Amino acid sequence: MEVRKAVPKVSVVESMHIDGEWRPATAGGTREVLDPADATTLAVVAEGGAADTDAAIAAARRAFDQGEWPHTPTAGRAALLRRVADLLQRDREEIALVESRDTGKTLEEGRVDVDDVTNAFRYFADLVMNESGGRVVDAGSADVHSVVVHEPVGVCAMITPWNYPLLQASWKVAPALAAGNTFVIKPSEITPMSTIHLVRLLVEAGLPAGVANLVTGAGDPVGARLSEHPEVDLVSFTGGLASGTKVAQAAAPTVKKVALELGGKNPNVVFADACATEEGFDTAVDQALNAAFIHSGQVCSAGARLIVEESVKERFVAELAARAQRIRLGRGTEDGVECGPLVSEQQRAKTEDYVASALAEGAVLRCGGERPEPSELRPAEGYFYSPTVLDDCHRGMRVIREETFGPIVTVESFSTEDEAVTLANDTEYGLAGAVFSSDTARARRVAARLRHGTVWINDFHPYLPQAEWGGFGKSGVGRELGPHGLAEYRETKHVYENLRPGPVRWFAG
Ligand code: NAD
Repeated sequence: MEVRKAVPKVSVVESMHIDGEWRPATAGGTREVLDPADATTLAVVAEGGAADTDAAIAAARRAFDQGEWPHTPTAGRAALLRRVADLLQRDREEIALVESRDTGKTLEEGRVDVDDVTNAFRYFADLVMNESGGRVVDAGSADVHSVVVHEPVGVCAMITPWNYPLLQASWKVAPALAAGNTFVIKPSEITPMSTIHLVRLLVEAGLPAGVANLVTGAGDPVGARLSEHPEVDLVSFTGGLASGTKVAQAAAPTVKKVALELGGKNPNVVFADACATEEGFDTAVDQALNAAFIHSGQVCSAGARLIVEESVKERFVAELAARAQRIRLGRGTEDGVECGPLVSEQQRAKTEDYVASALAEGAVLRCGGERPEPSELRPAEGYFYSPTVLDDCHRGMRVIREETFGPIVTVESFSTEDEAVTLANDTEYGLAGAVFSSDTARARRVAARLRHGTVWINDFHPYLPQAEWGGFGKSGVGRELGPHGLAEYRETKHVYENLRPGPVRWFAG
């Protein structure tokens, strides 16, 4: 007899917001959004296409060219951002739950994300309120008044990934609105739910119709259309190197502004002196564990490359592997779970492929390297993978060169400071890195030599809304957060006013 599983009630969610209205896809398409903990359908959303994208861009264009938002006084824009921050806090539990079920991350990580983006909205509100009206330039003449002012770029396209959906959306939406732009956002087709919630809050906060538009759908056609469209003035993309390259290529013919936040292959350099005391050893191992395995390693800044001094390597790796084996894997919404599943079957297959290639190339498996046993906390249908430590790795291996974006940490060792720096910089990426040392002078010396956009000393992962985030090398172009993160969404204009106009007489006639 055929055993039929009970089909859970699935909501069809209004997911596309164009010109102030929630709409289905023009072509009527829909997509199922899955819960990665058990592969059940969380929601059904509209699957937008090129026609929906064009409609959203047209709405954003009208709202920018004819609407009030770009001319709303700074205080009005800042007040709206603060209302959004308050609404995010009001809905904190609901959004954290949505994010946890959509991405697989733990509920607590979801709450941290909501708090972080609340701070980002408040930060950009404060930043614009604290600015003066323009920079007066000394033109060298009392008869000239010369001032540099900033204006919004125009219509911004925003394309975001699945690992931090709410956070990546907010790092773009908050500064874009603070600067007076209109936008079309396309979240990852795998995890659109928290972005839908965010747009609902923007509407509730009173943003005029057409300023914030949301199209749910695939990278191609929706993201591709946003990147190439002549009516889009800026495209801000966060995601992988392969898609980011396509976005830059599609954007080039229209010479729109392009901001890219791409992947990373982030070194975590541990000197023996950091482990000289029991407390120091415990801290460095704990941080290495967090660096590599939070959100199952699906973090652009994950400390996936442990580079540890030879003299402490054996003890360090043994303890790291022991602790990695104790990480409690399960559905992110369950109490006591420390790590959720991978976001999709595809992401787990990619992880398995990297582990297999590393072992074939000579890496030594210290723990993990397999799917965990199913349990009450871990349904068999979920995309779980055990935290994996791969020892004896070297730069010839694919697992060292490429971003794995899964629960894998590779181990390399060094004997001198120069060697540590060379290894840490030996990547085409340059997003983030860390150095652990009890010798402050050494730690700062090494930090100064690391070619990465964020460098932590004796810590891993913290970031601040006031400090720029972004990468060297193939980790991207431009910066998010901080004053630079606002500047990305602005044009700069020099207004030169001659107070005593007269002929120049360059030409005799
Ligand atoms: P991805 O590149 O597959 O997708 C990102 C977004 O791009 C999605 O919305 C996708 O639909 C869209 N897309 C795909 N093809 C496209 C195309 N041809 N044109 C336009 N858009 C297209 O990345 P992902 O797997 O969702 O996310 C993981 C990647 O994101 C990792 O590489 C990670 O390092 C990176 N990331 C970087 C940062 C950062 O701050 N630098 C932050 C988070 C994630």
